Amino acid sequence: MTPKTDFISTRNLSKHFGQVKAVDDVSLEIREGEFFALLGPSGCGKTTLLRLLAGFEFPNHGEIFIDGQPMGAVPANLRPTNMVFQNYAIFPHLNVKQNIGYGLRKLKLSSQKLEREVNEALVLIKMEGYGDRNSDELSGGQRQRVALARALIKKPKVLLLDEPLGALDKKLREQMQIELRALQQEVGITFIFVTHDQEEALSMSDRIAVMSDGQVRQIDTPERLYEQPVSREVAEFIGSMNIIEGGVSSRDNGMVTVHAGALGNFQARNTHGFATGDTVLIAIRPEKIAVSVEKPVDADHTVAGRAGTTAYLGDRSHFHFHVNGLDQPISVASPNLKPLSGRSRPSGKEIWLSWPAEAVILLPPG
Ligand code: ATP
Repeated sequence: MTPKTDFISTRNLSKHFGQVKAVDDVSLEIREGEFFALLGPSGCGKTTLLRLLAGFEFPNHGEIFIDGQPMGAVPANLRPTNMVFQNYAIFPHLNVKQNIGYGLRKLKLSSQKLEREVNEALVLIKMEGYGDRNSDELSGGQRQRVALARALIKKPKVLLLDEPLGALDKKLREQMQIELRALQQEVGITFIFVTHDQEEALSMSDRIAVMSDGQVRQIDTPERLYEQPVSREVAEFIGSMNIIEGGVSSRDNGMVTVHAGALGNFQARNTHGFATGDTVLIAIRPEKIAVSVEKPVDADHTVAGRAGTTAYLGDRSHFHFHVNGLDQPISVASPNLKPLSGRSRPSGKEIWLSWPAEAVILLPPG
């Protein structure tokens, strides 16, 4: 069966707390079986949107549909959803098996059936042999796996996850990201995952909704969000971006010629229907810019620069170059491929920066 593209949909959904528009006119559709992330800075409304889907909050305006059913005033316990929280919400007085089986208590299963279901869930979270452990004998990662199993054992249509890896240290968090994604693909349940960590969202999700001020700014695959952001806000929230103001001097056949002061004139794709005379933002990712001592002969665009500060980041370094006539330095990211002894720091030197035409993204001002 083809997955439903509008398995979950919200229409003009708004939730206000006094003057605060926590969720402001959000309409979106989530596919059946999708790993969908809500990403944005603290306070942008991610958790409120998740709680509206769960039925822990009710909207001031708008409607939610899950698998074709309007959720209206349906309370949380009657929705086909389940939620996993950041702070390992498992019961301290119950052991692992009892915690996992807790979700099924209302179904009054036979003890054999319950045992089978719980054992299957233990296999799913790779914790066979831990069933009789007490909760206080588990690591943070293990506790969060138990919380996941407890939520999944009821086989909800939708699992809502509110920063479930937020309390784990970086290494465990990265490991759990891979496990969680694999688990989601195994069970095939739609996951809606809240995070403020862009790398986490990029690495796990089928699609991401970037939010700010209660609104959804862009919904796209990780690749498209990074390569084709629609606004300065999204471009700067996902990774780093060099942004320089320019103007459109002419347009022709899907392309525009842009003048950008010290960077000269160049052509770029007219992604936003810009007209001659419009102000635009020229955006270029730091890793798309090459640095060379000699002026490159075959590059689409070159500009002379002078090396400034360097930020060493382990796997890569960020170099900042000054270009005459530009207020801000141009940031260039370069992988640290060679051993330390083979690398030279370009500080103070005259160099050339170059990039291909397709590296340039034009964005509306503001
Ligand atoms: P974080 O990443 O910090 O958890 P978030 O993106 O999940 O943030 P929300 O928790 O949804 O953001 O909050 C959105 C806005 O709504 C914030 O300004 C917050 O202070 C406000 N808010 C959320 N819940 C309530 C509430 N129960 N009462 C009043 N204001 C609230």
